[in-house]
Amino acid sequence: VLIWSFIWAFIFALFFAYFVSRQSMKPILRAWQQQQDFVNNAAHELRTPMSVIQGKLETMLTKPTATVRDQSEAIILSLSEVRRLNSLTNNMLTLAKSGSNMTKIEKEKTDIKSFLMKVLSPYIEMGSLSDKKVTVDVNVPQEVAIDRKRIHQLMVLLMDNALKYSDDGDSVNVTAKVEKKRLVIAVADTGRGISAEAKKHIFDRFYREDKTGNRKTGGTGLGLSIADWIVQAHNGKIAVLDNKPKGTIFRVTLPL
Ligand code: ADP
Repeated sequence: VLIWSFIWAFIFALFFAYFVSRQSMKPILRAWQQQQDFVNNAAHELRTPMSVIQGKLETMLTKPTATVRDQSEAIILSLSEVRRLNSLTNNMLTLAKSGSNMTKIEKEKTDIKSFLMKVLSPYIEMGSLSDKKVTVDVNVPQEVAIDRKRIHQLMVLLMDNALKYSDDGDSVNVTAKVEKKRLVIAVADTGRGISAEAKKHIFDRFYREDKTGNRKTGGTGLGLSIADWIVQAHNGKIAVLDNKPKGTIFRVTLPL
């Protein structure tokens, strides 16, 4: 009887250890899979601009008699692909650091009105030069502790998108106010809007609604993942809503 009890206890312990290790391995396996997906996507995204540059350089090399105009066109295209590679690698580095403890959030008490006016003034100017109207409406009486560098980066990401995905004649309105002890910043554009299906994925790394169209707009599909990380690092929330009658609103809520 004693031997049998030992055998049963041993079998039970074996099953228990197997079950516990499976459960505790789950998050590790998930993180590993995410890392794997990130590397796959990154390699894929880097390969396209690199093959464009390679193709253009090879043609220039094998056709030295090409006209200056053809050569200039090849250089312009290669340059725009190099810029794309640059922004891709910068964004990838930011995201890679965000997953580790390498990036600290350093909050400082900030006067939101003057901060936002400073960050947004180039966009107001850009809007007045093109046919897109950029307006800012801030009503935040108290100072709020934010990581200025990161919130600046967040506003740049949201404003670049708002202008990128709208047409001439559209407008972008930024509002900031305090609501239920929270700072609420909204960037509302009257651009092309986002489909219900795309809304589920836009914060995913490398997601782009229209891949071919977005190559023209120079998107990398990483901007909103970075925006999401910045907001989460401030213990806040970011939401995407439909603007009426058309367009998109990104609503950021940060605890005071
Ligand atoms: P991208 O670099 O492609 O702009 P993002 O991560 O910033 O990548 O955005 C992901 C996708 O979400 C974009 O490709 C675009 O399809 C959509 N998107 C983001 N902002 C807007 C906006 N203001 N209006 C319409 N679509 C948007």
